[in-house]
Parts: sequence; structure tokens; C-alpha cells
Amino acid sequence: MPKGQRNLEDRSESDDFESLTASVPFLKVNHTLGRLSVEVLSQSANTLGCASGSWRIWSLSDGYVDLPAESLKHPNNKICRQTESPQRNDSLVRLPVNCFLFDRSGMDRVLIDCGAGGSWDPSMGHLVEVMAEAGIDTSSITMIALTHAHGDHINGLLMPDGRRAFNGLRKIVIAQDAVEEFLAEPELEQFRPILVPINGGDRLADHLLAVAIPGHARGHMGYLLNTDEDDVLFCGDLIHVPAAQFSCPELTWAYDDDEATARASRIKLLKDTAHTHTWLAGAHLDRPGIGRIVAEKQGFAFIPIV
Ligand SMILES: [Zn+2]
Repeated sequence: MPKGQRNLEDRSESDDFESLTASVPFLKVNHTLGRLSVEVLSQSANTLGCASGSWRIWSLSDGYVDLPAESLKHPNNKICRQTESPQRNDSLVRLPVNCFLFDRSGMDRVLIDCGAGGSWDPSMGHLVEVMAEAGIDTSSITMIALTHAHGDHINGLLMPDGRRAFNGLRKIVIAQDAVEEFLAEPELEQFRPILVPINGGDRLADHLLAVAIPGHARGHMGYLLNTDEDDVLFCGDLIHVPAAQFSCPELTWAYDDDEATARASRIKLLKDTAHTHTWLAGAHLDRPGIGRIVAEKQGFAFIPIV
């Protein structure tokens, strides 16, 4: 095992953000990814299918949620007024809710987050019908990797009528620190036997690394997929309002548990992904939610894949 990586048995409660990110190879290695070979295969309003090397990657919409625009704040707690409102009612900001799926022949078919199910607003919870639209059989999903235990990321494990949404599911990967919050949802207790608690720096497979992204929620975790052609970081809730937080990554979101830590994570990861040409796939980035980052002025700019 290369220096700086840990296996699933080698866990420490005391790891902090600096030591974890220091141990993540993609943040240290100076990539020269001349080829950025993600190829778009199909696209609709709710789905995007692409290929990188022998991998297939999908972005799938669970819907959206409208939240108070005053949730976006400057570090001094002053409410941020966006110059460009993404919708007519500028007291609300619309957050898309994206899930991602990837696979390669012979490997687990991995879903990153599973949406809100029937637990929240009817504008969310559409993942299963969107999968059908993309021709994806829900029972083909064998593993779900959760970025954190907020309702819009975990409750899609169940259909509104209480049935399980993914019948072929064998394991649910989740940060050790997020397990308690996950199990606090009484109807999710039934998944306890297939929970696989992990920590940042854990290698889940040759091609898949867990990357701690602390700040937004307890045990907030990213997943870094290496396709041999590209690196793709599924970054969960690193960014909530792309129209503002790429150019001003210091802006915080009221739903972040620890705003200072979330801000530090955001600035560091944006810097690192820009430097390493890593693709970023975010739960609340505008559809289809995948793109690359470049440094621009005092902040960054997001270049969507399509
Ligand atoms: Zn979220």
C-alpha cells in the first residue's frame, strides 16, 4: 500500500482535516492530465451519461429544493445579495439535487447519494423515475456511497410507500462519524446490517478513495474515482450556490455545521481540483453537476462538462 494511504482496518478517531488531506495522494501528486477524456454519450434534462476510459458515469437528477437566499452569508455573517438571481423570487435560491452513478464491467455499480425519497418536498424524490428514463435498472445498484446523512442524500433508500428502492443493494458506505445521524432515522434502521463505516483516506477499491471534506455535516465525505484517464471527485455539499460560491468560495451556507471549517475545505479543495484538473461532481451544482474548475480573479470559475 503506497505511503500515506490507509486501509479499512487502520482507522484513527483523532485524524483532523489537515492530516487527512495531507494523506490524500491526488492532492499531492502533480498530475499532468493532458487528456481530459470524459466523453458525453447521452443527455436529457434529468440525465447525463458519459464515459471515461472503460468507466461509465451518470449524473441523475432527484429534483430540486428552494431555500431562503439569506442562507448564503459572508464570513462576517452579513447576508449575501447575489447580483444575478437564478429565479424570479430572489428571496429563494434553487438548489438542484444530483445523484451520480458509475460502473465498469465486473465491478460494483456505485450510486453516490440517493436523494430525498418521499421525505421532503415533492420537488425532490424523483431519482427512481429518472433512472428508468436513463434505462438504468434500480436492482443493478450494488453499492451506495453516502456523502453525509442529510435527508436529501439518504432518504431515497426507501420509496414513498416504504419499499426499498434498490433491491440488489449489498453495502452502504458511510463515514464513521455520520452513522449515528443515519440511524437516527427510524425507518433506515433496517439498513444497519449493510452499513460499512469508513474514514477519510480509506481506499474502497483500487480505483476509489474516500476523501474527508469536513465542515458541512458530521462525517461529510467525498469520493475520488480514478478511471485511468481522469480523476472525478464526487464532492457532496462542498458548494450549495454555484452562482456565488465558485467566484467567492469564502461565502458560507447557513446549513453548514461548522462554517469556518466548511469554508476552509471549500477553498482548499477548489484550489487542489483546479491544480490537478480533477473533475468535480457536486450534489447541488447546476445540472448536470459535473465540470472542471479554473482559478479566476480572486476565486474560481466552474466549466460545466456540457
Ligand atoms: Zn445537500
